[in-house]
Amino acid sequence: MTYHSSLRSKLRRNSGAHTSLRFDDLDSNSRDLARQLSFTRREFLRGAAGVTLGSTLLGSRLLARAGVPQKKRKVVVITFGGGARDQETFAPEGQENIPHLMQELIPQCTFFTQVVNRGILGHYVATASLATGVYETINNFASLPPEHPTAFEYFRKDLKRPPSDAWVVAPSNGFNRIGESNHHSYGPGLGARVILPKHLLTAATSGGGADYGHLLRDNYETPFYTPELGGSEFELHQLEMLLKLSVDDFKKHARTLSSPDELSVYIARQLMRQLAPSLLWITMHDIDIAHAGAYSLYVAGIRRTDRLCADLWKTIQTEPEYAGNTTVFILPDFGRDSDQDSGGNGFQHHRTGDPLSRTTWMMAMGPGVRQGVVFDRALESTDLVPTIGSILGFSATLAQGKPIVELV
Ligand SMILES: [Zn+2]
Repeated sequence: MTYHSSLRSKLRRNSGAHTSLRFDDLDSNSRDLARQLSFTRREFLRGAAGVTLGSTLLGSRLLARAGVPQKKRKVVVITFGGGARDQETFAPEGQENIPHLMQELIPQCTFFTQVVNRGILGHYVATASLATGVYETINNFASLPPEHPTAFEYFRKDLKRPPSDAWVVAPSNGFNRIGESNHHSYGPGLGARVILPKHLLTAATSGGGADYGHLLRDNYETPFYTPELGGSEFELHQLEMLLKLSVDDFKKHARTLSSPDELSVYIARQLMRQLAPSLLWITMHDIDIAHAGAYSLYVAGIRRTDRLCADLWKTIQTEPEYAGNTTVFILPDFGRDSDQDSGGNGFQHHRTGDPLSRTTWMMAMGPGVRQGVVFDRALESTDLVPTIGSILGFSATLAQGKPIVELV
């Protein structure tokens, strides 16, 4: 039995969409493959972006975030959403799709080549797991909150921050519950506000957004799940009162945009300018159009995400509330299936749960973060929340992961 088929049969023994691959289930072949993938990724980066191999022992004490007091620190998380493979990104043949990452961002970041996601590979549940630091097992296709406290709840409760200080910009209407858990010690009233740009646009066009169909596409994964695309008075209130955008200006600007992620970045910029939240989470999703099976659309999604990540980084450097005090994390929720796995259909889906689609990466940039350094030790997707906690000063007591020593 190959490692692929053995992994697949383990996954099948669990229950479909609720499958969660635990640490102990990963056999040594899978771990070897994850390690090999991470080494290869490291070599691609060393060759092309000129990064050097970091040492955890040397200089792991950061420059105390370059003197930024804890109260002023901000964190922006960008999920490189929808899942991309190395052959369309970091491998030599893929690097032309990510020129901004390769030439602008990677030389300024600490790059981790082996971030393993051992949870369910569905976008909502995987993003919820990134946000709680626990592999969540909620149904990916239901409107349910995460079961464990989110980073937003730890942040707001521990540091007594107001609702306006934590925001999520979410790509799909299916993400409307991501801002707060139903955990009894946290939950309602303590989470992030969630803004759904498609809801805003639907509300602004009174549901008659025929000209905006390309911005309103939702959930590429299954035709059987169509999350409600609503828009209400509340959304218009968000638009005008919080974002200081008139309905007409918003509609006019939206006409110049080409995709849902561009719409999300536009809204995220407005949020940064008007409310300057200290914890901002932006989830991209354009790449997931791969489920439609068109390779060219998938690659176009990667190129757009690459550009939008660089645009956001530039915005952070020029917004006075953010410049010089913001740590940025860019990471995918997970990858996509390899061409070799007969259980999948290559780039199109993320169904096999193979090590390739589980072994992702993360970039970190900002004050005190070492630049142009790559680490290849194995991290977990669940390490993100405790790491954010160490930076902002909250304690993610229920998270499964650990703070990343190279960053805290
Ligand atoms: Zn997908």
